[in-house]
Amino acid sequence: NPQSFGSERNDALVIHQLVKQFGAFKAVNNISISVPSGSFLVLVGPSGCGKSTLLRMLAGLESPTEGEIVFDGKVVSSGTDGTLRDSASRNAGLVFQSYALWPHMTVAANVEWPLKVAKWSKAERAARVDEVLGLLNISELRDRYPAEISGGQQQRVAIARTIGPRPSILLLDEPLSNLDAKLRVEMRSELMRIHRATGATSVYVTHDQVEAMTMASHVAVLNKGRVEQFGPPVELLQNPQTTFVATFLGTPAANLIPATQQSGAFVYEGQPIARIPVNFSEKSVKLLYRAQDIGVGAIEGRPQIFGKFAEAAPIAGQSMVTAIVGDMRVTGMTDGYFTAVPGSDITMSLLREPDGIFNEAGQRIVL
Ligand code: ATP
Repeated sequence: NPQSFGSERNDALVIHQLVKQFGAFKAVNNISISVPSGSFLVLVGPSGCGKSTLLRMLAGLESPTEGEIVFDGKVVSSGTDGTLRDSASRNAGLVFQSYALWPHMTVAANVEWPLKVAKWSKAERAARVDEVLGLLNISELRDRYPAEISGGQQQRVAIARTIGPRPSILLLDEPLSNLDAKLRVEMRSELMRIHRATGATSVYVTHDQVEAMTMASHVAVLNKGRVEQFGPPVELLQNPQTTFVATFLGTPAANLIPATQQSGAFVYEGQPIARIPVNFSEKSVKLLYRAQDIGVGAIEGRPQIFGKFAEAAPIAGQSMVTAIVGDMRVTGMTDGYFTAVPGSDITMSLLREPDGIFNEAGQRIVL
């Protein structure tokens, strides 16, 4: 089963054939994912693919239409009897992008509150509040009120408040999306540190694929309510199973060039651009080329494609150059700082054989 790896039933989190229907529409359409304890599972995908709906079911805010959710071997939600079981005892902590702190309570009191609700003793509460404020590096803010601290600091308080009661599963719905770019990058590594320190299994929703790739132990790429591909980030980057995954992940996104089999080669616009593998029968395909496998300008002995220059961006001493070729955007890399007049003619060279061949339905053809 390509949608799951790991030990399944013994896993800390098992999502089994989960469906969530709104009227006739399936926002989540038969999703199965399972991850071991301590995993950092990232759910990534375009707007409307069902990420938040799935997370809301994990949090117990929404009940599944079909399927099951199992935490630590215990069924916490099941579609078969239409019930939302025991959401209080599922021991999940939830962090949203909008993290409403109680404005009339100090930072310390905000963090202490859920511990009071969980009936921790006064001494235990005091010790735990000190501990989590320390973990989030906000001990010196303990007596301030939410209005007296910055947005990034408020986000830390919200996380401290959530991890206080030691949830075994931590659910995070785009928790960094309200922060500015620099703070986001900082908080990303902070969250990783906190994840490691707490040992909780985390489920993290984002539409930011860089965030997904840097933080995840496991990534599920969702598309239209289904899992397009599930695996470790490197596996998804190196071996995308569909054109959707190939173009959704990676910076810059990989290129797909349509080609047809003609007289012993794959041909694009009348030109042979790649070799055909032995015993290959598919007539029309899409060929995957990474940006680093496409050069700018005519390169001796390599197949060329012709387009119009669109834009260039400097990245780590190189330039990422995008051309419009027919109705495609093709992105390649070149050394140094490249610039040209937008709309001017540009030649790109294919430096290597394609990194994957996909059929017209967008599925990788396994050779
Ligand atoms: P985004 O990244 O934009 O937040 P998402 O992947 O989190 O998107 P969801 O919020 O899970 O997407 O929504 C998935 C689909 O289900 C969307 O098409 C949405 O319109 C629909 N949907 C969500 N909640 C409801 C609801 N209560 N009633 C009807 N349709 C809903």
